[in-house]
Amino acid sequence: MHYKNKGWDLPLHSEKELAKCKSTVYTFFEAQPEIQFARDHLAEYLLYRCSKCSETIRQGLKTGDQGSTGNLREHVKKCWGEEALTAVKDSTLDKAQAAVRDFKKTWQMTLTLVVNSVTSWFKSFSTRPPEKEKICVVTACWVAESGRSFLVVRDRGFRWLQKEGRPNHYVPSNETIAQDMKKLISRMNWGLAKVLEDYEYLVPIELDCWTSPNHHAFMSIMGRIIRNGTDGQEKLTSVLLDFVELPCSHTAENMANAVEATLKDYGIREKVKISNSK
Ligand SMILES: [Zn+2]
Repeated sequence: MHYKNKGWDLPLHSEKELAKCKSTVYTFFEAQPEIQFARDHLAEYLLYRCSKCSETIRQGLKTGDQGSTGNLREHVKKCWGEEALTAVKDSTLDKAQAAVRDFKKTWQMTLTLVVNSVTSWFKSFSTRPPEKEKICVVTACWVAESGRSFLVVRDRGFRWLQKEGRPNHYVPSNETIAQDMKKLISRMNWGLAKVLEDYEYLVPIELDCWTSPNHHAFMSIMGRIIRNGTDGQEKLTSVLLDFVELPCSHTAENMANAVEATLKDYGIREKVKISNSK
């Protein structure tokens, strides 16, 4: 989708521009925010994508909201924790960026540990009550694998099964599951990017497009790679690279732009052949 700059000064936060911003809170978000336009085609919001959970946070461009970091701070507090925000508060931009990188690394490692510790959660049971993090990971996995709505955790039958006899037992809220899901996806993408980086062959990709009954256009981008299975044998495996909502419709241009962006995100632009299975 091509937005024309209607003579507005749009604050584009390249590394250089970022240095001019006073607040270090931007270091928790991807450098280039998207712009959301109002009906009158004037820029209304900047959408900052959290570099940890990929959630987009809006910053208003109207007078009064302009440059307000309230929403961004709120999100960082929730997503990265209060201590992360405090750590970068009074530091210089360079130091803040380094601190955020450290936080992200530690967090990736913690998440990997938690995810690894729950890999065979469905096979056997421990007598020890699970930690909160494990409950969150397993709940998100369960909801995703069985195609449930996040609201299933509010189901009264489910709550009874969880809480009866142990009313203090932790059950994540649907908002928490939604956030955890994004974290898991971003971790999965991160892992997949590493695999693809080392992959020495071309990656065939496959696009699948459809329109939902309420007229939203979607496209999935799958890649096929050869991977070692659990038995040590090489296997052709399908990996979901991205699932995107297209602006307006499935025009060749929209699709090409989405594919291009995804391939660039993974850094595999030169490893791709395209076959369209629409
Ligand atoms: Zn986040």
